[in-house]
Amino acid sequence: MDEQTLIERYFRHATPGGADVLLGIGDDAAVLRPPPGRDLVVATDTQAEGTHFPPGTPPAAIGHRCLAVNLSDLAAMGAEPLWCTLALALPQADAAWLEAFAAGFTALAERAGIVLVGGDTVRGPLAATVTVLGHVRPGKFIRRDGARAGHAVYVTGWPGEAVAGRALLSRGAPAPGDPAESLWRRFCFPEPRLAAGLALVELASAMIDCSDGLHDDLGKLVLASGVGARLDAGALPISAALRAFGGAQAAEMALTGGDDYELLFTVPPERSAELARVEAQWSLPVTRLGEITSQAGVTWLRDGQPWAFDDQTYRHFQG
Ligand code: ADP
Ligand code: MG
Repeated sequence: MDEQTLIERYFRHATPGGADVLLGIGDDAAVLRPPPGRDLVVATDTQAEGTHFPPGTPPAAIGHRCLAVNLSDLAAMGAEPLWCTLALALPQADAAWLEAFAAGFTALAERAGIVLVGGDTVRGPLAATVTVLGHVRPGKFIRRDGARAGHAVYVTGWPGEAVAGRALLSRGAPAPGDPAESLWRRFCFPEPRLAAGLALVELASAMIDCSDGLHDDLGKLVLASGVGARLDAGALPISAALRAFGGAQAAEMALTGGDDYELLFTVPPERSAELARVEAQWSLPVTRLGEITSQAGVTWLRDGQPWAFDDQTYRHFQG
């Protein structure tokens, strides 16, 4: 299969654009018309085999993930998706593999309302680089550096499940109904928290998406904001599936696992009632973990005492 056939068959008509796509796939470049009066938001992320996903990851999951991790960055800014490009390096053009990859990519793109407008296809070690463009109302984006002492710290969803799911990958896809299936799904098909991100535009003082691990990403947020945080490890949302998988190490996995693509954000105390109203409309749990402090550093408490957790935990599960 040559490059033109491949593009034509799997990508050219995958996500038909609207009137805002003046020129999509097929020319030397795409030409796009941004919504009038909006600010554009741009992010790019690569998923490489061996680094971001192990060999043997289902191609539909790779197609989903390379877009999901980028949509998660838009979510963390409070932005709405518009367009994306896909640069794909493939060791060979395998029709069954490409079909599954494109299906995973396209299903999420349609759901998120993002249109694929271009890309590049080359031979090389398996890697997919996606660039996403989104939009916000002028100036209405959420940065990492707005957290202040006294603001409450929240996380969406179920941090830690993805690292457990990654560890389960080598066993192949679990049967539906197997408790491990929800963990496997969390790694293979992470759900970017776009609606939550958008709803937090007027509420969150700072936000970041959790890709490297909750503890690590909170460290980036407090560093950017020039503050610290004091949190209760006992408040961590640990699902029954993660508890069953991780046992006594489930909390460490939630803190250090990575690949969660949950949103971690801060809200000033006077806005907490409003957050409760907004959040009640989501089908997504939101957990209050603790508070921002003026003193630098991140402290996790367990039974009221500072907790020196095992920062290496996730590595034990990734072998
Ligand atoms: P050029 O050599 O001019 O860059 P290409 O042959 O690389 O052209 O690409 C032809 C068209 O197909 C371009 O519009 C490009 O954006 C698009 N394209 C190439 N690869 C992909 C891909 N993996 N996904 C989506 N569009 C692609
Ligand atoms: Mg090209």
